[in-house]
Amino acid sequence: MSKRALFFAGAAAHALVLYPTLRRNCTWFGPIATSFKTARKEVWLTIDDGPNARDTPAILELLSRHQARATFFVIGKNVDAHRDLVWRAHREGHQIGNHTYSHPSAFFWALGPRATRREIEQGSAAISAATGAPPAIFRSPVGMTNPFVHRALGAQRLIGWSASGLDGLSGRGGAVVERLMRGVRPGAILVLHEGGAPGRVETLALLLGQLAGAGYACVIPEFGTFQ
Ligand SMILES: [Zn+2]
Repeated sequence: MSKRALFFAGAAAHALVLYPTLRRNCTWFGPIATSFKTARKEVWLTIDDGPNARDTPAILELLSRHQARATFFVIGKNVDAHRDLVWRAHREGHQIGNHTYSHPSAFFWALGPRATRREIEQGSAAISAATGAPPAIFRSPVGMTNPFVHRALGAQRLIGWSASGLDGLSGRGGAVVERLMRGVRPGAILVLHEGGAPGRVETLALLLGQLAGAGYACVIPEFGTFQ
């Protein structure tokens, strides 16, 4: 093979490895749930990156007022710092999902098998210590997976999403909710974040109001309904 051909072959092989790691919700390495089966007006509200001393209590109040159920994809080291908040969310009927121990968002896609396994297992152990039960579901940081995630998951299912308000990028309010509402349909998985920039609780309040107005309920889907 010529030098030039070798270069292109190498670049193509590299791109084939990089593409599925950098593309959110990409299923090349194994299944990722991006919706759930339902015939009713129901969505799955997922809230990432907590628990957070500022936001979590206010979020729990809001959810309770709207009789909404949510899944919190929590970061293990935050769980260790605020076990009481995780216990409260669990006790109030919400679901706790694993979102790694330290949330290495910039390089999770590039972690090797041992570091990937450590992030997943330590995140799981932190949740077990807080709630008494291991998590059944896992979400990768910023939704980017790597070739070792599925092998390290054990019984946990990998969960993506179908609608993002991009609240991590553009902060708060109307634009975030508008983006999310465009993706609302039976079985949609919505993703929001807590902590970080202010205004997240207000965004959630706006979203819950609009969902109720559109006749949608926030539910935690059964394991067997993921698709
Ligand atoms: Zn995250």
